[in-house]
Amino acid sequence: MAATNRIDVLDPALLRPGRFDRIVNVDLPDKEGRLSILKIHAANKPLGDDVDLAEIAGETYGFSGAHLENLTNEAAIFALRENSPLITSKHFMEAIDKVMMGEKLDRKPVKEDLERVAVHETGHALIAEIMNPGSVSTITISPRGKALGYVRQNPADDLYLQTKGYLENQISIAIAGSIAEEILLGSKSTGASNDFKQAIQLVKIIIEAGMSSLGVVDKDSIPDNILHQEITKILRQIEEEVKKIIIKHQDLIKKITEELLIQESFSGKELRELIVKEKAACRAC
Ligand code: ZN
Repeated sequence: MAATNRIDVLDPALLRPGRFDRIVNVDLPDKEGRLSILKIHAANKPLGDDVDLAEIAGETYGFSGAHLENLTNEAAIFALRENSPLITSKHFMEAIDKVMMGEKLDRKPVKEDLERVAVHETGHALIAEIMNPGSVSTITISPRGKALGYVRQNPADDLYLQTKGYLENQISIAIAGSIAEEILLGSKSTGASNDFKQAIQLVKIIIEAGMSSLGVVDKDSIPDNILHQEITKILRQIEEEVKKIIIKHQDLIKKITEELLIQESFSGKELRELIVKEKAACRAC
């Protein structure tokens, strides 16, 4: 028995009848699968009462078995470093960030950069909560891997099919960081180039799936200028909508940003509580 993830480069002689001739494909695990794998790796570890493996399975879309094993080990290391006898939910959340985004960096950005990152990430997070309530898992401005800050969204469920509305929401969330910078700070920055790449990728999916005003099209035969026009048109429309929402919620974004600069990161739950609190306070004023 043998395993590979590059069957395409194996010598065909290996796959001849009588040798490795039975092939079992193992896909990435779904939510149920991830839960079962987590249970195996967590079985011999002291878990705190607040750890919900089903919730962790929900937040680890796209993780392989190896990622999940790594995740439980990293959570245990975080607990150990704090001399905590139990691995708590907090340790697992930090381990998810580490496995997804890389090691936390010690480098502290300068104050202006930090403020900009906080406004940017708050833009993403607020639009995410407005479009898909309850979807933010973490928002942080402590740099990790290549990111200066990030918002991690919790997929409500593993999605196999995406609707146009879902894709438009994801585009709105992707461009919201840069729009928040533009409206609250008066200018954009280079920090958003990956967000735009992601937004354009999503717009292309809408066009290729026949969900744009071009109707059903063969993606290879659309002339470049038509494709470009359509991408711009869709992006502009969504941009206008997001701008309106951000302008309307400027004060709320400022409040969240101030709080984020003090605390550096929030869980999704803390963010939602803060939004509710600030909204109530503003109604009073
Ligand atoms: Zn961003």
